[in-house]
Amino acid sequence: MSETKICIKCSRQFEISDLEKDIRKKANAPLPDKCHFCRLKTRYNKLPMYGFRKVKCHYCGAEIVTSVPDTEGRPIACNKCYREKFLTEIN
Ligand SMILES: [Zn+2]
Ligand SMILES: [Zn+2]
Repeated sequence: MSETKICIKCSRQFEISDLEKDIRKKANAPLPDKCHFCRLKTRYNKLPMYGFRKVKCHYCGAEIVTSVPDTEGRPIACNKCYREKFLTEIN
């Protein structure tokens, strides 16, 4: 049976499905007290600071802002170099 709860943030009713209850039980996580909408919102509020950083273009040294993670060891190119290096190769 799914369970209906009242969101502590916006007082809307929301349902917790059997599947979600099951997953949370197995993960030892408490049932959510906020609706899907409010949960999404809090998640997005944390995003703006996340992932963006200043780097230098590997090819020309121009400073660029990117959200590409640093984990893959790939050289990062600015728009101009990216176009020159990669798009011309494809054509
Ligand atoms: Zn809500
Ligand atoms: Zn460049």
